[in-house]
Amino acid sequence: MMNTYGRPDIVFNKGRGSWLFDEDGNQYLDLVAGVAVNALGHAYEPLAEVIYEQAKKLMHCSNLYYNDQQLKLAKTLTQLSGMEAAFFINSGTEAIETALKLSRKYGNMQNESKNKILYLKNSFHGRSLGSLTVTGQEKYQKPFMPLLGGTYCIEKVDIESLNNAFDDQVCAIILEPIQGEGGIIPLPEAFIEESHKLCDQYDALLIFDEVQCGIGRTGKMFAFENYTVQPDVVCLAKGLGGGFPIGAVLANHKANVFEKGDHGCTFGGNPLACAAANYVLGVVSNKEFLEDVKNKGEWARKEIENALKDYDDFLSVQGNGLILGVHFKSPVAAIIQKSFDNKILLVSAGANVIRLVPALNIEFDEWKSAIDTLIQIILE
Ligand SMILES: *Cc1c(COP(=O)(O)O)cnc(C)c1O
Repeated sequence: MMNTYGRPDIVFNKGRGSWLFDEDGNQYLDLVAGVAVNALGHAYEPLAEVIYEQAKKLMHCSNLYYNDQQLKLAKTLTQLSGMEAAFFINSGTEAIETALKLSRKYGNMQNESKNKILYLKNSFHGRSLGSLTVTGQEKYQKPFMPLLGGTYCIEKVDIESLNNAFDDQVCAIILEPIQGEGGIIPLPEAFIEESHKLCDQYDALLIFDEVQCGIGRTGKMFAFENYTVQPDVVCLAKGLGGGFPIGAVLANHKANVFEKGDHGCTFGGNPLACAAANYVLGVVSNKEFLEDVKNKGEWARKEIENALKDYDDFLSVQGNGLILGVHFKSPVAAIIQKSFDNKILLVSAGANVIRLVPALNIEFDEWKSAIDTLIQIILE
Protein backbone atom coordinates (compact mmCIF):
# COMPACT_ATOMS: atom_id res chain seq x y z
CA MET A 1 0.00 0.00 0.00
CA MET A 2 1.35 3.47 -0.86
CA ASN A 3 1.82 5.66 2.15
CA THR A 4 -0.98 8.17 1.40
CA TYR A 5 -3.14 7.77 4.51
CA GLY A 6 -2.24 7.58 8.20
CA ARG A 7 -4.26 4.53 9.18
CA PRO A 8 -4.80 2.98 12.61
CA ASP A 9 -3.49 -0.53 13.12
CA ILE A 10 -6.76 -2.46 12.67
CA VAL A 11 -8.37 -4.21 9.69
CA PHE A 12 -12.11 -4.05 9.06
CA ASN A 13 -13.75 -7.05 7.46
CA LYS A 14 -17.48 -6.59 8.09
CA GLY A 15 -20.11 -3.94 8.53
CA ARG A 16 -23.78 -3.74 9.48
CA GLY A 17 -25.83 -0.56 9.66
CA SER A 18 -23.76 2.04 11.48
CA TRP A 19 -21.33 -0.55 12.87
CA LEU A 20 -17.96 -1.74 11.60
CA PHE A 21 -16.24 -4.93 12.79
CA ASP A 22 -12.49 -5.59 12.77
CA GLU A 23 -10.64 -8.89 12.40
CA ASP A 24 -10.31 -9.22 16.15
CA GLY A 25 -14.07 -8.96 16.60
CA ASN A 26 -14.12 -5.40 17.99
CA GLN A 27 -17.08 -3.31 16.93
CA TYR A 28 -17.04 0.40 16.20
CA LEU A 29 -19.89 2.89 15.89
CA ASP A 30 -19.18 4.62 12.60
CA LEU A 31 -19.84 8.36 12.29
CA VAL A 32 -17.59 8.59 9.23
CA ALA A 33 -19.68 6.34 6.96
CA GLY A 34 -16.93 6.09 4.34
CA VAL A 35 -16.71 9.91 4.48
CA ALA A 36 -20.38 10.58 3.71
CA VAL A 37 -20.55 7.66 1.26
CA ASN A 38 -22.52 4.91 3.04
CA ALA A 39 -25.80 6.83 2.97
CA LEU A 40 -27.78 3.75 4.04
CA GLY A 41 -25.13 2.31 6.35
CA HIS A 42 -23.05 -0.82 5.82
CA ALA A 43 -24.30 -4.01 4.18
CA TYR A 44 -27.86 -2.72 3.83
CA GLU A 45 -29.66 -5.88 2.72
CA PRO A 46 -32.12 -4.45 0.18
CA LEU A 47 -29.30 -2.54 -1.56
CA ALA A 48 -27.06 -5.64 -1.56
CA GLU A 49 -29.99 -7.57 -3.07
CA VAL A 50 -30.47 -4.98 -5.84
CA ILE A 51 -26.74 -5.13 -6.68
CA TYR A 52 -26.78 -8.95 -6.72
CA GLU A 53 -29.86 -9.14 -8.95
CA GLN A 54 -28.46 -6.55 -11.36
CA ALA A 55 -25.07 -8.29 -11.50
CA LYS A 56 -26.83 -11.44 -12.64
CA LYS A 57 -28.66 -9.50 -15.35
CA LEU A 58 -26.24 -6.92 -16.80
CA MET A 59 -23.14 -5.31 -15.29
CA HIS A 60 -21.66 -3.33 -18.13
CA CYS A 61 -22.41 -2.79 -21.79
CA SER A 62 -20.50 0.42 -22.74
CA ASN A 63 -21.80 3.92 -23.30
CA LEU A 64 -21.94 3.12 -27.03
CA TYR A 65 -25.42 1.87 -26.11
CA TYR A 66 -28.24 2.92 -23.80
CA ASN A 67 -29.02 0.77 -20.79
CA ASP A 68 -32.27 0.80 -18.85
CA GLN A 69 -30.81 1.56 -15.40
CA GLN A 70 -28.86 4.57 -16.69
CA LEU A 71 -31.92 6.04 -18.42
CA LYS A 72 -33.95 5.53 -15.27
CA LEU A 73 -31.31 7.23 -13.12
CA ALA A 74 -30.97 10.19 -15.49
CA LYS A 75 -34.73 10.61 -15.46
CA THR A 76 -34.98 10.45 -11.66
CA LEU A 77 -32.07 12.84 -11.06
CA THR A 78 -33.27 15.42 -13.58
CA GLN A 79 -36.83 15.25 -12.28
CA LEU A 80 -35.76 15.60 -8.65
CA SER A 81 -33.37 18.48 -9.39
CA GLY A 82 -35.19 20.33 -12.17
CA MET A 83 -32.07 20.06 -14.33
CA GLU A 84 -32.08 19.10 -18.02
CA ALA A 85 -29.43 16.42 -18.51
CA ALA A 86 -27.11 14.03 -16.68
CA PHE A 87 -23.64 12.61 -17.33
CA PHE A 88 -22.33 9.67 -15.31
CA ILE A 89 -18.84 8.97 -14.00
CA ASN A 90 -17.36 6.93 -11.15
CA SER A 91 -16.24 9.46 -8.56
CA GLY A 92 -16.39 13.00 -7.25
CA THR A 93 -13.15 14.00 -8.91
CA GLU A 94 -14.43 12.83 -12.28
CA ALA A 95 -17.62 14.82 -11.70
CA ILE A 96 -15.51 17.95 -11.15
CA GLU A 97 -13.36 17.24 -14.22
CA THR A 98 -16.55 16.90 -16.24
CA ALA A 99 -17.87 20.21 -14.89
CA LEU A 100 -14.54 21.94 -15.64
CA LYS A 101 -14.59 20.71 -19.24
CA LEU A 102 -18.22 21.75 -19.53
CA SER A 103 -17.22 25.25 -18.35
CA ARG A 104 -14.40 25.54 -20.86
CA LYS A 105 -16.68 24.35 -23.66
CA TYR A 106 -19.29 26.90 -22.60
CA GLY A 107 -16.73 29.72 -22.61
CA ASN A 108 -15.11 28.71 -25.89
CA MET A 109 -18.51 28.75 -27.57
CA GLN A 110 -18.70 32.52 -26.84
CA ASN A 111 -15.07 33.41 -27.61
CA GLU A 112 -11.64 31.89 -27.04
CA SER A 113 -10.63 34.27 -24.25
CA LYS A 114 -13.63 33.32 -22.11
CA ASN A 115 -11.90 30.57 -20.17
CA LYS A 116 -11.34 31.69 -16.58
CA ILE A 117 -12.68 29.43 -13.83
CA LEU A 118 -13.16 30.93 -10.36
CA TYR A 119 -12.84 28.94 -7.14
CA LEU A 120 -12.68 29.67 -3.42
CA LYS A 121 -9.93 29.64 -0.85
CA ASN A 122 -10.29 26.63 1.48
CA SER A 123 -12.33 24.64 -1.05
CA PHE A 124 -11.88 20.96 -1.84
CA HIS A 125 -12.82 19.54 -5.23
CA GLY A 126 -10.55 16.52 -5.71
CA ARG A 127 -7.00 15.29 -6.32
CA SER A 128 -6.62 15.06 -10.11
CA LEU A 129 -4.61 17.89 -11.65
CA GLY A 130 -7.73 19.72 -12.86
CA SER A 131 -9.80 19.35 -9.70
CA LEU A 132 -6.70 20.04 -7.57
CA THR A 133 -6.19 23.33 -9.41
CA VAL A 134 -9.57 24.59 -8.16
CA THR A 135 -8.89 23.28 -4.64
CA GLY A 136 -7.85 26.40 -2.75
CA GLN A 137 -5.57 24.76 -0.18
CA GLU A 138 -1.82 25.05 -0.42
CA LYS A 139 -1.14 21.80 1.46
CA TYR A 140 -2.84 19.80 -1.30
CA GLN A 141 -1.46 21.80 -4.26
CA LYS A 142 2.13 22.61 -3.40
CA PRO A 143 3.90 19.30 -4.18
CA PHE A 144 2.25 19.12 -7.60
CA MET A 145 2.97 22.49 -9.18
CA PRO A 146 2.49 23.67 -11.85
CA LEU A 147 -1.23 23.12 -12.15
CA LEU A 148 -3.83 24.06 -14.77
CA GLY A 149 -3.83 27.60 -16.18
CA GLY A 150 -6.85 29.88 -16.53
CA THR A 151 -8.11 29.61 -12.98
CA TYR A 152 -8.43 32.23 -10.26
CA CYS A 153 -8.72 31.83 -6.48
CA ILE A 154 -11.10 34.12 -4.58
CA GLU A 155 -9.13 34.58 -1.38
CA LYS A 156 -11.92 35.88 0.83
CA VAL A 157 -15.53 34.75 0.97
CA ASP A 158 -17.12 38.19 0.75
CA ILE A 159 -19.21 40.05 -1.80
CA GLU A 160 -16.48 42.54 -2.65
CA SER A 161 -13.88 39.88 -3.51
CA LEU A 162 -16.51 38.06 -5.52
CA ASN A 163 -17.38 41.16 -7.52
CA ASN A 164 -13.72 41.92 -8.14
CA ALA A 165 -13.09 38.40 -9.45
CA PHE A 166 -15.75 38.49 -12.16
CA ASP A 167 -15.07 39.86 -15.63
CA ASP A 168 -15.97 38.94 -19.23
CA GLN A 169 -13.32 36.20 -19.29
CA VAL A 170 -14.98 34.19 -16.56
CA CYS A 171 -16.71 31.06 -17.86
CA ALA A 172 -17.60 29.51 -14.49
CA ILE A 173 -17.38 29.64 -10.71
CA ILE A 174 -17.28 26.46 -8.64
CA LEU A 175 -18.62 26.41 -5.06
CA GLU A 176 -19.35 23.88 -2.34
CA PRO A 177 -22.59 25.12 -0.69
CA ILE A 178 -21.11 23.64 2.49
CA GLN A 179 -17.33 23.38 2.32
CA GLY A 180 -16.58 19.82 3.44
CA GLU A 181 -12.89 18.93 3.63
CA GLY A 182 -12.12 22.59 4.37
CA GLY A 183 -13.97 22.41 7.72
CA ILE A 184 -17.78 22.10 7.31
CA ILE A 185 -18.32 25.75 6.53
CA PRO A 186 -21.65 26.72 4.95
CA LEU A 187 -21.31 29.57 2.45
CA PRO A 188 -23.40 32.61 3.38
CA GLU A 189 -26.69 32.80 1.50
CA ALA A 190 -25.91 36.32 0.24
CA PHE A 191 -22.62 35.08 -1.24
CA ILE A 192 -24.39 32.31 -3.12
CA GLU A 193 -27.09 34.66 -4.38
CA GLU A 194 -24.50 37.17 -5.55
CA SER A 195 -22.59 34.41 -7.36
CA HIS A 196 -25.78 33.49 -9.16
CA LYS A 197 -26.42 37.10 -10.11
CA LEU A 198 -22.88 37.62 -11.40
CA CYS A 199 -23.02 34.40 -13.43
CA ASP A 200 -26.12 35.79 -15.16
CA GLN A 201 -24.53 39.17 -15.67
CA TYR A 202 -21.24 37.81 -17.08
CA ASP A 203 -22.77 34.80 -18.85
CA ALA A 204 -20.85 32.23 -16.78
CA LEU A 205 -21.83 28.88 -15.26
CA LEU A 206 -22.62 28.49 -11.57
CA ILE A 207 -21.28 25.06 -10.53
CA PHE A 208 -22.27 23.54 -7.21
CA ASP A 209 -19.99 20.80 -5.93
CA GLU A 210 -22.48 18.71 -3.95
CA VAL A 211 -20.25 15.64 -3.94
CA GLN A 212 -20.29 15.59 -0.12
CA CYS A 213 -23.33 17.68 0.84
CA GLY A 214 -25.80 16.37 -1.79
CA ILE A 215 -28.05 13.27 -1.80
CA GLY A 216 -30.04 13.98 1.34
CA ARG A 217 -27.11 14.98 3.59
CA THR A 218 -28.55 18.39 4.53
CA GLY A 219 -32.07 17.03 4.97
CA LYS A 220 -32.90 18.14 1.42
CA MET A 221 -32.31 15.96 -1.61
CA PHE A 222 -29.87 18.55 -3.01
CA ALA A 223 -27.98 21.12 -0.95
CA PHE A 224 -29.01 23.88 -3.37
CA GLU A 225 -32.60 23.48 -2.16
CA ASN A 226 -31.52 25.22 1.04
CA TYR A 227 -31.06 28.40 -1.02
CA THR A 228 -33.20 30.39 -3.42
CA VAL A 229 -30.87 29.86 -6.39
CA GLN A 230 -30.74 27.07 -8.94
CA PRO A 231 -27.16 26.32 -10.09
CA ASP A 232 -26.33 25.63 -13.75
CA VAL A 233 -24.30 22.52 -12.94
CA VAL A 234 -24.46 20.12 -9.97
CA CYS A 235 -21.71 17.59 -9.20
CA LEU A 236 -22.68 14.49 -7.24
CA ALA A 237 -20.90 11.33 -6.05
CA LYS A 238 -20.15 10.04 -2.52
CA GLY A 239 -23.62 9.09 -1.19
CA LEU A 240 -25.20 8.53 -4.61
CA GLY A 241 -24.44 4.80 -4.81
CA GLY A 242 -24.70 4.14 -1.06
CA GLY A 243 -21.14 2.73 -1.14
CA PHE A 244 -21.08 1.61 -4.76
CA PRO A 245 -18.84 3.98 -6.80
CA ILE A 246 -20.80 6.33 -9.04
CA GLY A 247 -20.83 10.07 -9.75
CA ALA A 248 -23.12 12.30 -11.76
CA VAL A 249 -23.05 15.76 -13.30
CA LEU A 250 -26.37 17.48 -13.84
CA ALA A 251 -26.70 20.44 -16.22
CA ASN A 252 -29.53 22.85 -16.88
CA HIS A 253 -30.43 24.02 -20.40
CA LYS A 254 -27.78 26.75 -20.38
CA ALA A 255 -24.99 24.35 -19.40
CA ASN A 256 -26.09 21.39 -21.51
CA VAL A 257 -23.46 22.08 -24.19
CA PHE A 258 -21.57 18.82 -24.71
CA GLU A 259 -21.93 17.35 -28.19
CA LYS A 260 -21.09 13.96 -29.61
CA GLY A 261 -17.39 13.21 -28.96
CA ASP A 262 -16.80 15.97 -26.39
CA HIS A 263 -16.53 13.73 -23.34
CA GLY A 264 -16.71 10.09 -22.35
CA CYS A 265 -16.27 7.58 -19.56
CA THR A 266 -15.87 3.83 -19.98
CA PHE A 267 -17.35 2.69 -16.67
CA GLY A 268 -19.56 5.74 -16.12
CA GLY A 269 -23.25 4.97 -15.86
CA ASN A 270 -22.86 1.20 -16.03
CA PRO A 271 -26.11 -0.63 -15.19
CA LEU A 272 -24.72 -2.08 -11.95
CA ALA A 273 -23.75 1.29 -10.45
CA CYS A 274 -26.94 2.90 -11.75
CA ALA A 275 -29.11 0.17 -10.22
CA ALA A 276 -27.48 0.87 -6.85
CA ALA A 277 -28.04 4.62 -7.25
CA ASN A 278 -31.64 4.09 -8.36
CA TYR A 279 -32.27 2.17 -5.18
CA VAL A 280 -30.56 4.78 -2.96
CA LEU A 281 -32.53 7.63 -4.54
CA GLY A 282 -35.77 5.74 -4.02
CA VAL A 283 -35.08 5.58 -0.28
CA VAL A 284 -33.48 8.99 0.27
CA SER A 285 -35.94 11.09 -1.77
CA ASN A 286 -38.74 10.02 0.57
CA LYS A 287 -40.09 13.04 2.47
CA GLU A 288 -40.14 11.36 5.88
CA PHE A 289 -36.62 10.02 5.37
CA LEU A 290 -35.31 13.54 4.68
CA GLU A 291 -37.29 14.95 7.60
CA ASP A 292 -35.65 12.36 9.87
CA VAL A 293 -32.16 13.39 8.64
CA LYS A 294 -32.99 17.01 9.41
CA ASN A 295 -34.33 16.19 12.88
CA LYS A 296 -31.36 14.03 13.90
CA GLY A 297 -29.06 16.86 12.83
CA GLU A 298 -31.00 19.54 14.71
CA TRP A 299 -31.15 17.38 17.83
CA ALA A 300 -27.36 16.90 17.80
CA ARG A 301 -26.69 20.58 17.18
CA LYS A 302 -28.76 21.58 20.22
CA GLU A 303 -27.34 18.80 22.38
CA ILE A 304 -23.73 19.75 21.58
CA GLU A 305 -24.28 23.51 21.85
CA ASN A 306 -25.97 23.07 25.21
CA ALA A 307 -23.36 20.75 26.64
CA LEU A 308 -20.36 22.75 25.43
CA LYS A 309 -21.61 26.31 25.81
CA ASP A 310 -19.32 26.98 28.80
CA TYR A 311 -16.42 24.96 27.44
CA ASP A 312 -13.76 27.47 26.55
CA ASP A 313 -12.28 25.77 23.50
CA PHE A 314 -15.67 25.27 21.78
CA LEU A 315 -16.69 27.70 19.02
CA SER A 316 -19.83 26.48 17.20
CA VAL A 317 -21.67 23.71 15.40
CA GLN A 318 -21.89 24.41 11.67
CA GLY A 319 -23.68 22.62 8.86
CA ASN A 320 -27.10 21.22 8.25
CA GLY A 321 -28.82 17.85 8.63
CA LEU A 322 -26.23 15.09 8.94
CA ILE A 323 -23.26 17.07 7.71
CA LEU A 324 -22.16 18.83 10.88
CA GLY A 325 -18.86 20.33 11.97
CA VAL A 326 -18.05 20.89 15.63
CA HIS A 327 -15.63 23.82 15.54
CA PHE A 328 -12.97 24.34 18.21
CA LYS A 329 -10.22 26.89 18.76
CA SER A 330 -7.52 24.21 18.88
CA PRO A 331 -6.78 20.89 17.11
CA VAL A 332 -9.18 17.96 17.55
CA ALA A 333 -6.78 15.06 16.88
CA ALA A 334 -6.72 14.04 20.57
CA ILE A 335 -10.55 13.96 20.76
CA ILE A 336 -10.71 11.81 17.64
CA GLN A 337 -8.10 9.41 19.07
CA LYS A 338 -9.96 9.17 22.37
CA SER A 339 -13.22 8.47 20.56
CA PHE A 340 -11.46 5.77 18.59
CA ASP A 341 -10.27 4.23 21.88
CA ASN A 342 -13.95 4.30 22.91
CA LYS A 343 -14.85 2.52 19.63
CA ILE A 344 -16.43 5.52 17.92
CA LEU A 345 -15.11 6.46 14.49
CA LEU A 346 -14.82 10.17 13.71
CA VAL A 347 -13.02 12.17 11.06
CA SER A 348 -11.83 15.76 11.23
CA ALA A 349 -12.31 18.42 8.58
CA GLY A 350 -9.28 20.65 8.78
CA ALA A 351 -7.31 20.63 12.05
CA ASN A 352 -9.87 22.15 14.43
CA VAL A 353 -13.18 20.66 13.32
CA ILE A 354 -14.83 17.34 14.14
CA ARG A 355 -16.90 16.29 11.14
CA LEU A 356 -20.09 14.31 11.74
CA VAL A 357 -21.31 12.53 8.59
CA PRO A 358 -22.96 9.27 9.75
CA ALA A 359 -25.18 7.03 7.67
CA LEU A 360 -28.37 8.97 6.92
CA ASN A 361 -30.41 6.11 8.37
CA ILE A 362 -28.45 5.82 11.63
CA GLU A 363 -30.85 4.79 14.41
CA PHE A 364 -31.63 7.62 16.81
CA ASP A 365 -30.42 5.68 19.87
CA GLU A 366 -27.09 4.95 18.15
CA TRP A 367 -26.76 8.61 17.17
CA LYS A 368 -27.64 9.73 20.70
CA SER A 369 -25.20 7.36 22.35
CA ALA A 370 -22.38 8.46 20.01
CA ILE A 371 -23.03 12.18 20.56
CA ASP A 372 -23.34 11.77 24.33
CA THR A 373 -20.08 9.79 24.48
CA LEU A 374 -18.37 12.40 22.32
CA ILE A 375 -19.52 15.19 24.64
CA GLN A 376 -18.26 13.22 27.66
CA ILE A 377 -14.88 12.73 26.02
CA ILE A 378 -14.59 16.42 25.19
CA LEU A 379 -15.50 17.50 28.74
CA GLU A 380 -13.32 14.91 30.50
C1 LIG B 1 -14.77 13.90 -1.76
C2 LIG B 1 -14.99 15.13 -2.53
C3 LIG B 1 -14.56 15.25 -3.86
C4 LIG B 1 -13.74 14.18 -4.54
O1 LIG B 1 -14.46 12.98 -4.66
P1 LIG B 1 -13.70 11.59 -4.95
O2 LIG B 1 -14.84 10.62 -5.09
O3 LIG B 1 -12.81 11.31 -3.80
O4 LIG B 1 -12.96 11.72 -6.21
C5 LIG B 1 -14.87 16.40 -4.54
N1 LIG B 1 -15.58 17.39 -3.97
C6 LIG B 1 -16.01 17.31 -2.69
C7 LIG B 1 -16.80 18.43 -2.10
C8 LIG B 1 -15.72 16.19 -1.93
O5 LIG B 1 -16.12 16.12 -0.66
